[in-house]
Formats: sequence, structure tokens, C-alpha cells
Amino acid sequence: MNMTENSSAERLELLLKAYELLSDITPKKYDCGILCSSVCCKNNGSHGNDKECGMLLLPGEKELLSGAPDYTFLNSANETLLVCDGKCIRELRPFACRIFPFYPKIVDCSGKYSVRILPDPRSFNICPITNDFRKRKARIAFIRNAKKAVRILMRDKMILEELIKQSDMISDIEDLRKKLLSADIKK
Ligand code: SF4
Ligand code: SF4
Repeated sequence: MNMTENSSAERLELLLKAYELLSDITPKKYDCGILCSSVCCKNNGSHGNDKECGMLLLPGEKELLSGAPDYTFLNSANETLLVCDGKCIRELRPFACRIFPFYPKIVDCSGKYSVRILPDPRSFNICPITNDFRKRKARIAFIRNAKKAVRILMRDKMILEELIKQSDMISDIEDLRKKLLSADIKK
């Protein structure tokens, strides 16, 4: 794969290309916000944790989005969270919101990365699409563009590392959820 250490300008260019691919294409043909009054925007703790609710950003996104009104950035040693107040300028949504309620699962297969777009377990408690198995299927155009966007982002070393870190973290959540579910069923 063509993956390099980019300058920040090159990184921003990749982010913009990925944003563009997920600018109009959404998981469903209809506006899924009508199913739930856009609960994921009002309750975006699904992206963070109990103390800090927000969207995990990729390297370069803070720089790209810092001019947007109503965004607050919470920095820690390893990550940056974007906190919004439930509304935003659509063109300035971070990558996490563009791909939600799905996430890219990235697996290293002997030096080649496989990318799958899977339902994000952090959404299951709030999202009527992912918490109902029958509605879970996203439209093909969304999956195709999401994969393309992730592949573009993976060209940047820093973003790739962060995507893999987030993929591992979300996969762990999913594994734990399945274990708890099967323990519950056995009771
Ligand atoms: S919670 Fe799910 S159905 Fe509702 S707006 Fe968000 S992604 Fe769409
Ligand atoms: S940034 Fe926009 S799309 Fe993302 S949770 Fe906030 S209001 Fe919703």
C-alpha cells in the first residue's frame, strides 16, 4: 500500500477527499434522523466515554475543523475529542460522524490491510438502524464510499496508526459485548 509520512497540508488534502466521499452518501437512502430525531447528535456520548462525550478525531482533523463554530476540542495525551452541542455545519462534520453508526475494522493480514465497514457497537444502545438486525444493512454506495475513504486516509501513516488504534478499541468493545451476551444467555 502507498502509505507515507505526509506533511500536514498533504494530510488535510487526504481528509478532504475522504470527507467528500461521505459528504452526501449516508447509510440509508432516506434521512435516518427521522427515525430517532437524530439522537446520535444529541447523545454523542456513544463516541466517547462516561466523563468525556464527543467524537474521536483523526490526526489533522482538529486543524481542519478548528474554525468551525460550536466545536470544543478536548485533548489528552493520546487522543482529541470533538464535542459539539448537537448541531453543526454539515460540511464540517468530522469523519467519525460521517461513518457513524458504522466503523472501519482494519486487520493486518500478513502485511496487507483488510478493511470492513461494520456496525459500531457503541451505537447499539441508541441507534434504531444498528440495534435492529433487520435494518442493519447499509446501502452498497455507502459501504463502497466508506471503504474508499478509509483507504485514502490509510495513505497517511499517522492517520493509519490512529485508525488501527480505534479499530482495535471498537473491536474489543464488540468482543466484550458478545461475551457478556453469551454469558447472559447461558444463565
Ligand atoms: S442514531 Fe442512527 S438512525 Fe438515528 S440519526 Fe444517528 S445514525 Fe441515523
Ligand atoms: S458534529 Fe454534527 S453530526 Fe456530529 S454529533 Fe455533532 S451535530 Fe451530529
